[in-house]
Amino acid sequence: MRPTQIGDKFFHCISCGYEVLEEVMYDVVLTSTLEAIGADLTVEYSNTGDYDFSDGEVERVQCAKCGNVIAEGVDAVETTHTMMLDGDPNFREPQNIREYYPNLVCPTCESPISEEVEEGDECPACGHVFWANKT
Ligand SMILES: [Zn+2]
Ligand SMILES: [Zn+2]
Repeated sequence: MRPTQIGDKFFHCISCGYEVLEEVMYDVVLTSTLEAIGADLTVEYSNTGDYDFSDGEVERVQCAKCGNVIAEGVDAVETTHTMMLDGDPNFREPQNIREYYPNLVCPTCESPISEEVEEGDECPACGHVFWANKT
């Protein structure tokens, strides 16, 4: 899984080093289709791992591996972003050229940027030149 990008930085858990954040929600309405309800009330679902959900409130934002809580409450996403701006140690700077680009894709043609791309390289799809200082 690719690291979670927050603004211009990336999550890097100070507890375990994992780089993916997860959002925990509550009061979520989860919908799944039923294959069968047995005589003993055993329920069989037909869309295992493929659910529809809606509503819900953000409870917290945390490390997806160790559960290190970054921010809590309905404003947890906003708080996480603010912590990044304030230089919280759970967030690191980009480590290679592609990490300077939102979603790690080319801003011109939106194709994924290779991990091996170096400063000044061109996008193989459209010729866009990649720079760390992308203004
Ligand atoms: Zn962690
Ligand atoms: Zn491109």
